[in-house]
Amino acid sequence: MTDVIIIGAGPAGCTAAKTLAQTGYSVILLEKNKLPRYKSCSGQIIKKTADLIREYFGEDIPQSVTCAPALNKGMVFTNRFGKEFVFEQNGYNVWRNNFDMWLCEKAAACGAKILEEQTVVSCRSTEDAVDIEMAGKNRYKARYVIDCEGAVGTVKRKLLNKKDRSIITFQTFNKGSVDLDHHYFYAFLQPELSQYDSWLNVKDNNIVIGVAVKDQQNIDMYYNRFVDYLSKKYFLKIQQQLKTDKWLMPLVDNKHSIECGVGRVLFAGETAGFLNPMGEGISSAVESGYCAARAVMSCFETPASLLSKYEESIQPLRDYMKRQWEFVSKLNGFR
Ligand SMILES: Cc1cc2nc3c(=O)[nH]c(=O)nc-3n(C[C@H](O)[C@H](O)[C@H](O)COP(=O)(O)OP(=O)(O)OC[C@H]3O[C@@H](n4cnc5c(N)ncnc54)[C@H](O)[C@@H]3O)c2cc1C
Repeated sequence: MTDVIIIGAGPAGCTAAKTLAQTGYSVILLEKNKLPRYKSCSGQIIKKTADLIREYFGEDIPQSVTCAPALNKGMVFTNRFGKEFVFEQNGYNVWRNNFDMWLCEKAAACGAKILEEQTVVSCRSTEDAVDIEMAGKNRYKARYVIDCEGAVGTVKRKLLNKKDRSIITFQTFNKGSVDLDHHYFYAFLQPELSQYDSWLNVKDNNIVIGVAVKDQQNIDMYYNRFVDYLSKKYFLKIQQQLKTDKWLMPLVDNKHSIECGVGRVLFAGETAGFLNPMGEGISSAVESGYCAARAVMSCFETPASLLSKYEESIQPLRDYMKRQWEFVSKLNGFR
């Protein structure tokens, strides 16, 4: 019997694992992929994330996980009418596999046992524990589970017996040139360019171009239109496409809800539904992972109050997400 099992070695899972392990709880973190694992991401670490990492991990994000340009100066946001807004704020530009691996190593150094290539299939809460079914022959039992499996996981969907509302992201990494400052992340909300948002950023001389769509069959159409737009407006020239990736992201709109958990299983990060508009989710993953761990610690012997304790502690995060959504809606002319 382990005190707490955590599903998923992303920022939510690693933060929860570190927080619990450093206080002396026995912690196993189960990750379905081989580490360091790949995660499709723009790798923009906003100031809020950097501050949280400093607070919870006691260190600044190291240079070794950054890519060029290491400094991110903020975001340039073009609304649905083509009007541009610049938000200046210093942050970092990282490769997610390196950043998440660094978080993972910090959790391991505090005593969390990290097990890779371990896919959780389902969880079942009993009166005093959670039974965890794995894809292989292993079985685990824990007093509590923190489910941080991101947007691609299925454990939460099985527990709640419902489908998440998601969008599909598609990105390409390219050799080439573009007449934009590489220190900024550029997001575009014109409806003719995507079904949610489209974006451009630069990582180690790769020009990354992405679109988010609701229907898979629309990827090519929106992507080609976006490339055409960038070519005309910012003189984008692609010499060679190096790689592509496709992922899922929670669909954040005014119908979006946050789900905290069920029984002895708490949800954190994208699994709970935390994601800010334009796809910034690392800060809320770190914060909700921390809150979930603290809730388990304070309710370890009183499981009946676990969910309400967690809900109470993540209320400020929910409010922040709502304010972000309202802000973007206003800039965009939505009601
Ligand atoms: C294209 C794109 C660009 C983005 N850009 C940014 C950005 O620039 N800045 C930002 O802040 N956010 C960005 N985000 C959002 C950010 O990546 C996520 O919000 C963040 O990774 C969520 O962290 P998490 O810990 O909840 O989940 P994840 O990071 O997704 O981690 C979940 C982990 O769980 C594992 N897992 C899943 N299922 C199982 C299972 N059954 N058993 C065991 N392990 C499992 C996965 O392999 C994974 O390692 C972007 C997202 C996308 C798709």
